[in-house]
Amino acid sequence: MRPAPRPEKAEGLERRPVGKDDPVGVRTWIGQWPAVRQLAGDDPLGRGTAARRDGGMVDKPARTQDADTVTKSICPFCAVGCGQQIFSRDGAVTHVEGDPDSPISRGKLCPKGSSTLSLLTAPTRQKAVRYRRPHGTEWEDLDLDTALDMIVDRVLATREHTWQDVDDQGRHLHRTMGIASLGGATLDNEENYLMKKLYTAMGAIQIENQARI
Ligand code: SF4
Repeated sequence: MRPAPRPEKAEGLERRPVGKDDPVGVRTWIGQWPAVRQLAGDDPLGRGTAARRDGGMVDKPARTQDADTVTKSICPFCAVGCGQQIFSRDGAVTHVEGDPDSPISRGKLCPKGSSTLSLLTAPTRQKAVRYRRPHGTEWEDLDLDTALDMIVDRVLATREHTWQDVDDQGRHLHRTMGIASLGGATLDNEENYLMKKLYTAMGAIQIENQARI
């Protein structure tokens, strides 16, 4: 549906600087509030002209218009799992928007999800595994295969050294108290299922999630 033509500003609510010499300064200032302008105009539900901002943006091309690739993804921030569209040009991400095809979010993103582009492109983003050796004073980069091998070695050694086969009275325990898991709210159902399955198979019994705590 084409949006309705942009209305003239409501009488008496035009933007003016607020100052000592302004006889209706407070009224003018309040009149600049977006909600007041919305309610005073002819779009009180804020679905059309009231949702636009000034500055001639109507004729500007969309920020996503010149993308050469659009990839569907999932918001990385929380377990709601809102759908996203990742717009990129020449191999670089240029914009992230909500995916209208997502049955969960239907094209919407909350403020966190809307800032995903900043998360992806932040110059301080870490892209390598960082490791500080015991008693070390400096961080060093590790390649992913080396880091995963080190994790496997530590998990196997911990399990072996902390394994409890039977208790004091000879009853079977078959568990380790040396390994625990604390999941975060960004994990979805499928990830939580797989983690529970993995840790239980290893004999761990201390398996929790931040969202439950
Ligand atoms: S952080 Fe916001 S946009 Fe992202 S999945 Fe959660 S609710 Fe959706």
